[in-house]
Amino acid sequence: MEITKKITILFAILSAVIISLLSGFVWYFSNEFAFEDFYKRLEARVNIAAQIKLYEDDNNNVYAKMRNQYLERLPSEREFIIDADKAGSNVNRELPSSFYNRLNNGVMARYRVENHFYAGKLFKNNNKKYIVIISASDPFGFRELKELQKILIIGFFLSVVLSFVVGWKFSDYMLTPLRNIIKSVKKIKAENLHMRLEVKNGSDEMSQLAQTFNNMLNRLETAFETQNNFISNASHELRTPLTIIIGEVELAMKASSDPQKQHLALAKIKDEAERLENILTSLLGLAQSGFNGKNQPWEEVRMDELLWEIKQSVNQVHPESKIEIDFSKLPQDEQLLTLRVNKNLIKLALTNIVSNACKYSDDKLVNISIQTTVNALSIAVTDQGIGIPQTDIQHIFEPFYRASNTNDYKGYGVGLPLSLNIVRLHRGSIAIKSQEGVGTEIKVLLPNK
Ligand code: ADP
Repeated sequence: MEITKKITILFAILSAVIISLLSGFVWYFSNEFAFEDFYKRLEARVNIAAQIKLYEDDNNNVYAKMRNQYLERLPSEREFIIDADKAGSNVNRELPSSFYNRLNNGVMARYRVENHFYAGKLFKNNNKKYIVIISASDPFGFRELKELQKILIIGFFLSVVLSFVVGWKFSDYMLTPLRNIIKSVKKIKAENLHMRLEVKNGSDEMSQLAQTFNNMLNRLETAFETQNNFISNASHELRTPLTIIIGEVELAMKASSDPQKQHLALAKIKDEAERLENILTSLLGLAQSGFNGKNQPWEEVRMDELLWEIKQSVNQVHPESKIEIDFSKLPQDEQLLTLRVNKNLIKLALTNIVSNACKYSDDKLVNISIQTTVNALSIAVTDQGIGIPQTDIQHIFEPFYRASNTNDYKGYGVGLPLSLNIVRLHRGSIAIKSQEGVGTEIKVLLPNK
């Protein structure tokens, strides 16, 4: 069901409940108190009738005269004086036993059937008990009550219809911006990802929603572009060694009589095949780290010990590298050094960063320092190498991107994107500070919870 319909129905139901509660309240209290006056008049008549009929007094005749002359007779007024001792079957059968119970308790009793009212009381005279009951109708009060009932019922239906219309208009008005957003979002396709939603001034939820969509589109567009670049870069990187290999094979075939030329061509083919293998291995790592890592084991790892392992393995591959690990900022609580990680992947990510530091500093001293806070552990790798030009820093996490000052260094531009993927898989982040010709600091931040 559309939200507009839902809001309208909810609005109407809520209004109906509130209005019916209010009407019930008004009806109950009107019904309770509308006849209070009339009962009082009946009760006065009960007392006067008792005085005139039951008590012998010199003034009784005067009372009777006054009553007949000045006390207006009520519609359908009737008077019952019953000898309570002999009553038995004489009592008025229309009246319920609760009425007689009240009488017997000596208090004024009241009863009403539709528009017919009764008031009665028990009187004692000369050791005898009499019941005096006066009954009459109150056409005016009753008519007023009926009118009120009609007004309340009509008012109820009118208000429900009104609240339905108001609720519908209101929800329609409130949801118009949302409908506009849906309409605009539907127009955005892969071919026109540059389109953005119109963001109105103001900080209401609709503007925030449009802004959030625009931010998401920015990210999507960047991801799309990166992916497109990745594919063209990857094809280029794979095609170059293949073209060289094909050329060298043709050369070797033509030079069948020159073993030296053939040997040179084969050596070149071997080099390029190795290059291909390296690129493919890195690409495979990049693809695998892009998965959620569930297939690989996650374990508790002491990060300071892992750094030792990394130092040793880099030293093995590049014996000239100089790596020092600074443990001066280690925490008292050793537990803070233990993280739950995918050991192979995180080792690969950190090894890439440390190898780069050694490579791009021509084996000058590389410093690794480890630090912890309550929520995270950070590993900073600092070198005194060639640095990264400012214009290149923002791109070095893109696959196959290499900074402009790396012509003299071998590489494929896949190591850092792979490291970033792995660190992100661990909900961490990477920060870079670099100055060309001075050095680079790459800091990996890993959350410990
Ligand atoms: P590569 O195989 O080229 O080293 P990476 O993905 O590991 O690929 O790095 C991407 C680019 O980032 C490198 O080509 C280089 O320009 C730059 N880079 C990474 N680490 C450093 C560093 N420590 N010093 C200078 N430049 C670096």
